[in-house]
Amino acid sequence: MAGRAADSTVLAGARVVLPTGTVEDGRVTVESTRISGTAPEDARVVDLTGHWVVPGFVDMHNHGGGGASFTSGTADEVLDGIRTHREHGTTTLVGSMVTGEMDFLVRQAGILSELVEQGDLAGLHFEGPFISPCRKGAHSEQLLRYPDPADVRRLVEAGRGTARMVTLATELPGGIDSVRLLADLGVIAAIGHTDATYAQTVEAIEAGATVATHLFNAMPPIAHREPGPITALLEDDRITVELINDGTHLHPAVLELAYRHKGAGRVALITDAMDAAGFGDGEYQLGPLAVEVRDGVARLVEGGSIAGSTLTLDTAFRRAVTIDRIPVEDVVRSISANPARLLGVDDRVGSLEPGKDADLVVLDEDFVLAGVMRKGEWIIEPKTS
Ligand SMILES: [Zn+2]
Repeated sequence: MAGRAADSTVLAGARVVLPTGTVEDGRVTVESTRISGTAPEDARVVDLTGHWVVPGFVDMHNHGGGGASFTSGTADEVLDGIRTHREHGTTTLVGSMVTGEMDFLVRQAGILSELVEQGDLAGLHFEGPFISPCRKGAHSEQLLRYPDPADVRRLVEAGRGTARMVTLATELPGGIDSVRLLADLGVIAAIGHTDATYAQTVEAIEAGATVATHLFNAMPPIAHREPGPITALLEDDRITVELINDGTHLHPAVLELAYRHKGAGRVALITDAMDAAGFGDGEYQLGPLAVEVRDGVARLVEGGSIAGSTLTLDTAFRRAVTIDRIPVEDVVRSISANPARLLGVDDRVGSLEPGKDADLVVLDEDFVLAGVMRKGEWIIEPKTS
């Protein structure tokens, strides 16, 4: 309500990235938990001159952080992980689970779905067990299974309406039927950890798949006579491609190639983070597998496969602008608006527009995180002069 001064804040003086472009010396008015179109005269003004204000980040593929795993953690541990990512600008995130026993995943989905219902997670993502043993990455091979639609349905139903995405190797027996089932259920079918050919990937897209799980990672590379899944996923506008921009998973030139080819409207920057994100080097578990994190790079103890990332989205943003030379407005689309749209939460988050949640990130002129607001509350309050 206008006039409730204590509840109204105007963020002034910053470069504000709106859906229509960047506004120099822009203003964002926050009324209680939301962005407002008008500011009462007595609103508190926070001077953010020299800063950027961008929408809060939306991470559609995230396994944990702050020492906590979304695949195996208790509700309290998962909340710790969520808090860690919020402190790095991610105001909306999905809880991703790696491969586990079916019964185990069903149980964990029950825990995570409560966190979705109370507004702490934006949905569930099952990355496995329906993936290819040839491209298993950091998933336990003994626990992989074919994407039998009955099993796919069982996991989705365990989420009680909160499952948003299932990653699968669509070339496996049952794969195409499972894509159709997921499309019917309104759950994203994501192609990933796949050994599919170009033609098999096209078939999966025709069946309704709409996302590429960490494009380039855990799938065959492009070869001149074997265009493979990457070519099919890059060339079809129905597909949004996830990219892990941590400097380890992708070379900057490859990231730029994906942006250029897909356009910023079809890229989603993700973390694929595991427990060590925002926590530090050491020994960890990723599902049933032992992982060692050294210099911020997570690898399986056995075999040395890269095992998720320790990335947070503030770093992904800064790298995209300062190293990969992607325009700020394009980075904002791919780190907030696109994932929000895919997750079906773009009526509330993903851009700075009146009526939406006051979820925003303040960055300094070097694109280092300086503040985070979620639903009108500062998670990190910017230091202003
Ligand atoms: Zn993952």
